[in-house]
Amino acid sequence: MRCVYCDLEKSKTNFSNLFLKEDLLCIECRKKMPIKRKIIQYENIKVESFYDYDSLFKSLLIQYKEAHDEILKDVFTYWLDDYINYRYFDYKIIFVPSSQKKINERGFNHLELIFNNLKQKRIAGLYQKDELIQEGKDSINRKRMISNYYYDGNRHKKVLVLDDVVTTGSSMLGVYNALKEKVCLIKLLSLAYKNFTK
Ligand SMILES: [Zn+2]
Repeated sequence: MRCVYCDLEKSKTNFSNLFLKEDLLCIECRKKMPIKRKIIQYENIKVESFYDYDSLFKSLLIQYKEAHDEILKDVFTYWLDDYINYRYFDYKIIFVPSSQKKINERGFNHLELIFNNLKQKRIAGLYQKDELIQEGKDSINRKRMISNYYYDGNRHKKVLVLDDVVTTGSSMLGVYNALKEKVCLIKLLSLAYKNFTK
């Protein structure tokens, strides 16, 4: 099998493959995108995250989202879907809403596809009020983003919120605020984190 990024034939003696499912990346490429679990605090919330955005993750995510390279989707969740299925088995899942314009342009919701190996039930009812695409870095934009979500779905005990990249934390804060009246326990998880002070 060839690495989906560098196209080199992968060695079949990768030890971890005895235990984990096959990685679509070769060992050398995986080293450029190591899994480094981090808990990041934004005001009153904590976001669990796994990749540094400024690694190979960035180019793979762009290629996946903008070039519709769907084979790449399992690169991001390699072992992570097992982890989420195990750790959050009794949670319902909700995705941070993308702008409808972006979904229409791409023709697919990239988050639903990335996380489609998860067994948990998906819930709906979370929306963006306005089409704010870019997370603004100044405080006015952040405030707009934080108040830009609403939830009109059912009440739930446990909900896991999923996103691809967390930067300023504004979307996660907005989603958290929108859900908290109706959800007892909210956990937030993003594949990657990006340091916005850089
Ligand atoms: Zn490779």
